[in-house]
Amino acid sequence: MKEIHHWIDGKEVKGTSGRFADVYNPATGEVQAKLALATKAELDAAVDSAAKAQIAWGSTNPQKRARVMMKFVDLLNRDMDKLAEALSSEHGKTFPDAKGDVQRGLEVIEFCIGAPHLLKGEYTDSAGTGIDMYSMRQPLGVVAGITPFNFPAMIPLWKMGPALAAGNAMILKPSERDPSVPMMLAKLLQEAGLPNGILQVVNGDKESVDAILDSPVIQAVGFVGSTPIAQYIYERAAATGKRAQCFGGAKNHMIIMPDADLDQAADALVGAGYGAAGERCMAISVAVPVGEKTADALIEKLVPRIEKLKVGPWTAGDDVDYGPVVTKAAKENIHRLVQSGVDQGAELVVDGRDFSLQGYEDGFFVGPHLFDRVTPDMDIYKTEIFGPVLSTIRAGNYEEAIGLAMNHEYGNGTAIFTRDGDAARDFANRINIGMVGINVPIPVPLAYHTFGGWKKSGFGDLNQHGPDAFRFYTRTKTVTARWPSGIKEGGEFNFKAMD
Ligand code: NAD
Repeated sequence: MKEIHHWIDGKEVKGTSGRFADVYNPATGEVQAKLALATKAELDAAVDSAAKAQIAWGSTNPQKRARVMMKFVDLLNRDMDKLAEALSSEHGKTFPDAKGDVQRGLEVIEFCIGAPHLLKGEYTDSAGTGIDMYSMRQPLGVVAGITPFNFPAMIPLWKMGPALAAGNAMILKPSERDPSVPMMLAKLLQEAGLPNGILQVVNGDKESVDAILDSPVIQAVGFVGSTPIAQYIYERAAATGKRAQCFGGAKNHMIIMPDADLDQAADALVGAGYGAAGERCMAISVAVPVGEKTADALIEKLVPRIEKLKVGPWTAGDDVDYGPVVTKAAKENIHRLVQSGVDQGAELVVDGRDFSLQGYEDGFFVGPHLFDRVTPDMDIYKTEIFGPVLSTIRAGNYEEAIGLAMNHEYGNGTAIFTRDGDAARDFANRINIGMVGINVPIPVPLAYHTFGGWKKSGFGDLNQHGPDAFRFYTRTKTVTARWPSGIKEGGEFNFKAMD
């Protein structure tokens, strides 16, 4: 059986804990690898050697660090298919989706090539008589990234790109579910010229996460995952004075106004609700049609589209719409929540409960589900299901629709479909949610903007990627300097004044 260990000081290092996690092939349900889980002592040793390596890297000129990123982009493009294959086989997502996962991470590395510009400080000439003042952005030292299973290339790249380009060393603790791609990224970075020790990949579970949180050396933690863990990490990181940004779960609403193009809205809902088996933090999981007529027409358009979805393994070709969910536990949790929806009175319009795929009976496939007449008190509305389940909640008018999205505890993404510029503008201005789409169902900001949710979808300050990432991974030092001047007012040099 293949074993996956750690990447420390520029080489693969065997774990010593004797503890392992199973890595599955979600399409077949088989264990395909064993992942070593680090001890606190292993984590601490990786941090110590990262701290030593960071001293030289932090004072390397930013242009040289940017050149490593430039080369890294070339290597990511060269190995795109290899990375996507490894990603699909452990995560289960389709091959085009896996390439998209790498691509959206790669775009942030491209952005990081601009590090010299992004790290420039500020300067005030003659802040007082003979006094100048300047601010510089310096790296924090050793920082940590703790990442989820659903984007095993993109999110580690979002973390490591800005952190390393800004001159930090990083301890990356990827998800236990799909650890191969982060290990491959570390090797590619070495090939791109990253000095050993600057990126350490420590595989592990709660033990290594807690060791990160309690480490007195680690200065900042960038986390992405579920909300309870995001909140836990935020609080425990703060207890040791770390800077923390912790992004959590989501329940993204899409409002469909009576004037919307309903074919466009239905197509968008199917892609955003069921793509990647609903395992996206920006997936739309709640459709909010405004008015009974809109709701009836929307459901009528959605049902045949959903029934046509092709569910299968990534190896079955690029026309597969979505693959299995990540684990058996995830599949069981989705089925449990679907049952709760039925028990609590929602109307299950498309029922995927009996879905099975010939030849893949032990795989973690879940059929598509569509609920209508969901109400805010139901568990399927309150909970992040993270599966191919779309809930429809009918709103009487626009105010009721926007109120639903605003009163939900999550605030990651949202969308409105309408032809009315006034409604769209009001929605974008008033909504208390971090990322907003207008006739765009998954409004993921590009690399040079920033990504982050509000409310229970994000704890801490500053967003991921874009200029915010460079602010998060640096701290500002401001210098006030006075030099005794020999220049007299009017410009004549007075040597005596220099004595
Ligand atoms: P998760 O919270 O289970 O795991 C995330 C990370 O935390 C992993 O590295 C894991 O090892 C670690 N972890 C898990 N349990 C822990 C514990 N008890 N103590 C310490 N560390 C622990 O999340 P997941 O299932 O891997 O990912 C899916 C979740 O991530 C969803 O909720 C999704 O919405 C969210 N997500 C959010 C964003 C965003 O930007 N807001 C992006 C992607 C995914």
